[in-house]
Amino acid sequence: ATDRGCVHDRPRVGIMGGTFDPIHNGHLVAASEVAWVYDLDEVIFVPTGRPVFKQNKAVTNPEDRYLMTVIATASNPRFSVSRVDIDRPGITYTIDTLRDIHALRPDAELFFITGADALAEIMKWKDANEMWDLAHFVGVTRPGYSTNLKKLDVPQDAVDVIEIPALAISSTDIRRRSHDGEPVWYLVPDGVVQYISKHGLYASEMQNS
Ligand code: ATP
Ligand code: MG
Repeated sequence: ATDRGCVHDRPRVGIMGGTFDPIHNGHLVAASEVAWVYDLDEVIFVPTGRPVFKQNKAVTNPEDRYLMTVIATASNPRFSVSRVDIDRPGITYTIDTLRDIHALRPDAELFFITGADALAEIMKWKDANEMWDLAHFVGVTRPGYSTNLKKLDVPQDAVDVIEIPALAISSTDIRRRSHDGEPVWYLVPDGVVQYISKHGLYASEMQNS
């Protein structure tokens, strides 16, 4: 079903959306695994503008999250970062991300990558039923969350789930660790450790939850 090793007539482009506050190795492994399994030519990381499900929380400013995402992905020739969500005013909805990337890459077959926790909410996303025409959805396993597709009311064939190496890493925990002075080495790329410390991100109390 994943078509590995087949010749594809259209370029295959993954989209890895996230708040990336900060980006961590769980995000990078998810993107790398899906790229491998689905034979993707590239993966575009898309930091959110204002995340719809985090409106009651403080989120680090978009330029810092964007730059950390660039730093984390710079060494991989197949990874890039898009500003479509941070440059679009207002709350970020995935349907808009998909429309924007589709407009930029009309030739491409799109694969939207999402972790098990986000997948569980997918039918609550704006215009969910219009998303399936724009992209395949690939859910990835995440420690602590179930990937039972039967419980979700998604159309058959719209979403696949694949098992990836388990990394029990979350941005929430990275922020807490940074705030408490605990190490974040090897949970995020080295350049991101240094960016957090250089800019004093997560030092204040309110960014911590
Ligand atoms: P936060 O704790 O702030 O919510 P997060 O670690 O969940 O941060 P997000 O930016 O919210 O990171 O997640 C972006 C996407 O990456 C989501 O689809 C999420 O499910 C997925 N994801 C995040 N961490 C992992 C992980 N360790 N393994 C698999 N998928 C992950
Ligand atoms: Mg999250």
